[in-house]
Amino acid sequence: MKKYISLSVKCPHCGKSLMDDEELLNGKSSIKLNIQTNSSRGVIYLCSYYECFDYTTEVPLTEKEAVEFTCPHCNKELNTKEECRVCHAPMVSLLLQTGGKVSLCSRTGCSNHYVAFEDLSTELQKFYETFGS
Ligand SMILES: [Zn+2]
Ligand SMILES: [Zn+2]
Repeated sequence: MKKYISLSVKCPHCGKSLMDDEELLNGKSSIKLNIQTNSSRGVIYLCSYYECFDYTTEVPLTEKEAVEFTCPHCNKELNTKEECRVCHAPMVSLLLQTGGKVSLCSRTGCSNHYVAFEDLSTELQKFYETFGS
């Protein structure tokens, strides 16, 4: 059976943690981000489990709409110039507390996201020591 890993992320601009202890998803702290759609803006909470796509938000989301993500602390844009390989929307990039980064697609309903480590062996080791038990 596949084991889910809970990610702990921070803003690549200000370095503040994006984890929210009050809004739990699947029993874990969620990842809190601000979002802006064509019609409204607000807060979204993403499940911190890698490869889990659960989220809660009060912002009405249209399926297949590309959303702009910003940091709730410094308000800087988290969308990058990197394009999603699946749907060509901008990828959103967050830093992992353990080092490396996680990227996810900014389009609603697109499930493309991945974790990239700068130094795979040591980062993975740290990652499993921190989150694997
Ligand atoms: Zn920030
Ligand atoms: Zn995509």
